Amino acid sequence: MGSVNTPSGSSSTSCPALRDAWAANTLEKAEALIKANSASSTGTAGLVMHNFVGGSYVPSENHIDSVNPKTGQVFAQVPVASADQVEQALQTATQAFKTWKKTTAAARSAYLRRVAQLIQDNHELFAVWESIDQGKTLARARVEVDRAISNFNYFSTFILHQSTSARMIDNVALTYEHRSPAGVFALISPWNMPLYLLTWKIAPCLAFGCTAVAKPSEVTSMSAFLLAEVLRLAEIPAGVINIVFGDGPTTGSALVRSPLVHGVSFTGGTATGIRIRRDTADQIYKHLSLELGGKNPTLVFDDVDLDKAVETAATAAFENQGEICLCGSRVYVQSGIYDEFVSRFEKFVRDNFKCGERVGAVVSSPHYAKIRSYLELAEQEKATFVTGSIPPADPKNGLWIDPVVLTGVSTKSAVMREEIFGPVVTIAKFDTEEEAIELANDNPNGLAAVLLTKDAARIRRVGEQIEAGLVWVNCWLVRELGTPFGGMKNSGTGREGGEYSREVFTVVRTLHIPM
Ligand code: NDP
Repeated sequence: MGSVNTPSGSSSTSCPALRDAWAANTLEKAEALIKANSASSTGTAGLVMHNFVGGSYVPSENHIDSVNPKTGQVFAQVPVASADQVEQALQTATQAFKTWKKTTAAARSAYLRRVAQLIQDNHELFAVWESIDQGKTLARARVEVDRAISNFNYFSTFILHQSTSARMIDNVALTYEHRSPAGVFALISPWNMPLYLLTWKIAPCLAFGCTAVAKPSEVTSMSAFLLAEVLRLAEIPAGVINIVFGDGPTTGSALVRSPLVHGVSFTGGTATGIRIRRDTADQIYKHLSLELGGKNPTLVFDDVDLDKAVETAATAAFENQGEICLCGSRVYVQSGIYDEFVSRFEKFVRDNFKCGERVGAVVSSPHYAKIRSYLELAEQEKATFVTGSIPPADPKNGLWIDPVVLTGVSTKSAVMREEIFGPVVTIAKFDTEEEAIELANDNPNGLAAVLLTKDAARIRRVGEQIEAGLVWVNCWLVRELGTPFGGMKNSGTGREGGEYSREVFTVVRTLHIPM
């Protein structure tokens, strides 16, 4: 292995942005670097990232500005990989698959552990740049770096303990299932938890013997750029994992449509998921795993400990400024405790979710405008703003939106029905269990739900009827990485995690052996 903490070798020094960013491994150093770059701007502001293909850094001709949402300042240039560059990356991955698929599980496990260790060794570097790039708080970014490390550690051991099914046909034959890696994957991730979600794909993909071309969101590419260096330092064979950057219509679309791709693991919005399904409809051989959007309910019954329920519901609503697909953005409260709940919820949110402290900036100007448009609609529809207000149309010092708690929103309103994906929550009333279930399920999405009750029988009665892939009871965001992760209805197709990821990244054949 090369040096652990420092990029070394011609590969990384050929990309000055990587060298500079890598050295800026504290918030102070990163901010000083951004300041120095902006002062000496020569027209292409900031760090110019490169694609990572075949173990080398490859520039692109075109770039997109990457903006720090907390300041509005451009700090980096994200390459836009052309269709030709995507194709080259896929050919590299195709070549690498020939040998990578034959490596032993023990060898792949060792590579994954090395990657985990390298991220751990550079923990603050990743957290700092993730926070600058996405707008999330540094504390939140640190948690997500921990989770990225867990992704690699989990799959590094998971693959060491595999079993398979065998069946007997009387005295005629023995059958058994044999799995092999499915091939080259397109791994596409969104902007809300960039490193965590990209590694949730890269780790199982490599673990199960596949190779890949990964593409993060153009809005938050920085941690993937740093991850490329970790993958290089871990000495993962060239071409096994390639990272291209760029926008969805150019780079992402070329990637998913290529006939060289055997599978797509995608996390993002439902509209993009539908688009990918259409774009690959003729390529029936492609494995598709689509983790899509949510509009998740939180049900609060009148037997709860109110303070605990308020804390769980507020955290589920506003963690990462509501930019987590699993956030509970529709809170339904049983009528007997409704007034008291709203009053304590308001106080808790005002005391605990302050911009710049526990609430970060929202990710981009278009997203800020989208959230703002839902708040304008809420005002037009005469909703009550229990906390928060419509933020300025033209923010000057970063994309900050104070948490908004709305009551009096109609169940038919787009504010209640559509994913806003920001610091906005609605609170409404219900009387009976049946009504609570009906309200929870009255949405085209079905990703997650939170159920708050002390009644053990109700946990099953209600919990088993909620149309959501993940139901958290008296807790939120607790994850065991073997559990099936994914949504019902418009929230996606397929599940990932443990053996569910094995389904995505392997193909199965059954051998029939006569007696
Ligand atoms: P998008 O669907 O806009 O983008 C997701 C990724 O797909 C990005 O990398 C994007 O590139 C890329 N992309 C866009 N168009 C195409 C295309 N035609 N072909 C291939 N790739 C394409 O989602 P967001 O980034 O806005 O993320 C927010 C969404 O993600 C929310 O709906 C959220 O709920 C969902 N999400 C779901 C999760 C889950 O596990 N179910 C977890 C986290 C988020 P680019 O951005 O560069 O254009």
